[in-house]
Amino acid sequence: MICPECNAEYLDHMKDCGDCKVTLVDACAVDLPVPEMTWSALPPFSGKIYADMAAEILDKNDIPYYLKTNWSSSAFAIEAASLPGDVVRIFVPEASFEKASQFVGSITEKN
Ligand SMILES: [Zn+2]
Repeated sequence: MICPECNAEYLDHMKDCGDCKVTLVDACAVDLPVPEMTWSALPPFSGKIYADMAAEILDKNDIPYYLKTNWSSSAFAIEAASLPGDVVRIFVPEASFEKASQFVGSITEKN
């Protein structure tokens, strides 16, 4: 676990940073594949099947993306808990965010 404020590393059972009093996040949650790019999260998909549909559309339109699941163990726990089933988030580069939102908009609306 990592503190998003001071980047201190903690053991997995720790929940808060003793110094900053903030909720720790999974180390993998801050480990972005292309750090020099700013990634934006599309609205959460409540189910892998919808996320896969969205990923396929992004593929066809040459928009890079990556998927993240298992938000229950991260700082996004509250957001994830408000949605049923598996929550999948798709991250796209900030520059492609509007285009990507339009492409996958029809999927999230049907959701
Ligand atoms: Zn801290």
